[in-house]
Amino acid sequence: MESLYIKAANYNTASKLKVEGIYPYFRAISSAQDTEVTIEGEKVLMFGSNSYLGLTNHPRVKEAAIKAIEKYGSGCAGSRFLNGTLDIHIELEERLAKFVGKESALLFSTGFQVNLGVISAIAGRNDYILLDEYDHASIIDGSRLSFAKTIKYKHNDIHDLESHLKKLPLNSNKVIVTDGIFSMEGDIVRLPEIVTLAKEYNASVMVDDAHGLGVLGLNGEGTVAHFGLTNEVDLIMGTFSKSFASLGGFIAADTSVIEYIKHHARSLIFSASMTPASVASTLAALDIIETESSHLQKLWSNTRYAMDLMKEAGLDTGDTESPVIPIYIRNNEQTFLVAKLLQENGVFVNPVVSPAVPAENSLIRFSLMATHTHAQIKEAVTKIKEAIHFSKKSLMEYEY
Ligand code: PMP
Repeated sequence: MESLYIKAANYNTASKLKVEGIYPYFRAISSAQDTEVTIEGEKVLMFGSNSYLGLTNHPRVKEAAIKAIEKYGSGCAGSRFLNGTLDIHIELEERLAKFVGKESALLFSTGFQVNLGVISAIAGRNDYILLDEYDHASIIDGSRLSFAKTIKYKHNDIHDLESHLKKLPLNSNKVIVTDGIFSMEGDIVRLPEIVTLAKEYNASVMVDDAHGLGVLGLNGEGTVAHFGLTNEVDLIMGTFSKSFASLGGFIAADTSVIEYIKHHARSLIFSASMTPASVASTLAALDIIETESSHLQKLWSNTRYAMDLMKEAGLDTGDTESPVIPIYIRNNEQTFLVAKLLQENGVFVNPVVSPAVPAENSLIRFSLMATHTHAQIKEAVTKIKEAIHFSKKSLMEYEY
């Protein structure tokens, strides 16, 4: 066991950042996840949340969770496979299948587990998985668990994808897995071209729509519906940790495919099911998403407002097309510094540095909620501009 302690002692990345006073992780929030949160007794504007529709603190969502705990208790004490299936799990599966336009859906306890379980179940030793290089970590880990040959193509680069597909045996089992909205960059997958290639080269398509559900589509049905490709995409994956204001995830597909996954996905079979409170709050959020379009409209009007201000401020926002706005800093240290300055100035954002993105793409991830006010957005953008300016100056002084 000596080697464990040597390994731990040799890890000093986090402690270095702590010494420099720019460590940005595990910041404890002592209030609800809302447009304003409390950290160490100070109020800060929250622009680092994935609660795009702002429903995590919605009275109906909270009430549903409380009622579910009263009826079903705090947990299911087992896996879906054995003693952990409740009637509300099945109700939510049926509602979600309808919502995204597929025959069936299957719940998992987190989105991460969906990707681990589904990808490793549908692809095996002699199969091929093709991934966008910017796909989420859970997709990469699911592919590793599958033992299939994994090939990464350049981000949203259809020619590169085709050049790989061309080399594979036409009759082999291939699955292309892509994010719908890319989680750090905020751009949207080129799904129509991917679907065309998939048909030509006999591949299945799976879309991880963690960031697209509740955000794209007429009523938030997601990226696949946005492109009108519900019948062409084989598997639609989603999580409840973003627009659905809860915790958990699902996969939707043809009933036969769901039946197969249900009996093969190890992260489903060998892990406890979603808690009653998580299921009930997701159901309540789905009710709101299906019946109140004002949240979606407000999210997009906030997105347009923020983008206009950022352009005016000369910020480098890359190719984003969504409420996920990367502000490229392109230097790890400066990115940490900007995040720290912003928190001191009352704005919470997430620094994203290598290895999550290449160092030259390090960025501040700014994400919008439907519940932000224009005044909050304006204040944040002004402070971001100031923080970037100040960080440049102080890094230059430090260097010379
Ligand atoms: N896929 C994507 C694209 C994600 O961004 C995330 C979470 N950040 C996940 C999957 C995992 O979802 P969860 O948080 O529900 O585990």
